[in-house]
Amino acid sequence: MPYTRKGMLLVISGPSGAGKGTLCTQLLQEDPRFEFSVSATTRGRREGEENGKHYHFLSGDEFQRHVDNGDFLECALVHGNRYGTLREEVRRLLEAERDVLLDIDSQGARSVAAAMPDCVTVFILPPSYATLRKRLHTRNTDQQSEIERRLNNAKGEIDQLAKYQYVIVNDTVDKSMALLRSIVAAERQRTTRFIPDIPVE
Ligand code: 5GP
Repeated sequence: MPYTRKGMLLVISGPSGAGKGTLCTQLLQEDPRFEFSVSATTRGRREGEENGKHYHFLSGDEFQRHVDNGDFLECALVHGNRYGTLREEVRRLLEAERDVLLDIDSQGARSVAAAMPDCVTVFILPPSYATLRKRLHTRNTDQQSEIERRLNNAKGEIDQLAKYQYVIVNDTVDKSMALLRSIVAAERQRTTRFIPDIPVE
């Protein structure tokens, strides 16, 4: 069946430790229409992270040059480091009719929603603050001071929840993935993104 399809920009936010990374990775693995928009950051590279795949790791000066050139669709200071979504990265993927996944904080989500109002916004909430603390400790990628900073920032991030279109309480990955799949499936059927052309006879 011929059709016209427009790519979807899916914005996912949630406090560190809510498990959004796992959900994003799984969505990208199982849904070939999605591409991840690789952000730029001044944060140091963690073990296992690859430049150009997880982030474009930049120096402060390099990041600022992109700001000055107007290369960012949005950028924000998160947990003391700068993060930004590259305009060109998103444009290229959407033009190729890909669905694009952004894993960004609430400041970034607000800017993207203002610039691209047909984006889909989803907030991933941990089932409790205790779970958040436990997850941050067990993932073991950050220093104690960094864990405390992220826990302190979680409350502010969660306060922004009502500004998102959808929320998922991430109790188990299976349940959350089922919800995320249904959000994506419904959003793909919007006539703003999908116009099927059925045969006349
Ligand atoms: P992490 O350092 O754990 O990879 O990410 C920290 C936070 O920065 C996460 O909440 C993540 O969603 C957010 N983040 C990652 N990339 C971007 C971006 O390009 N823009 C904004 N505003 N936030 C981002």
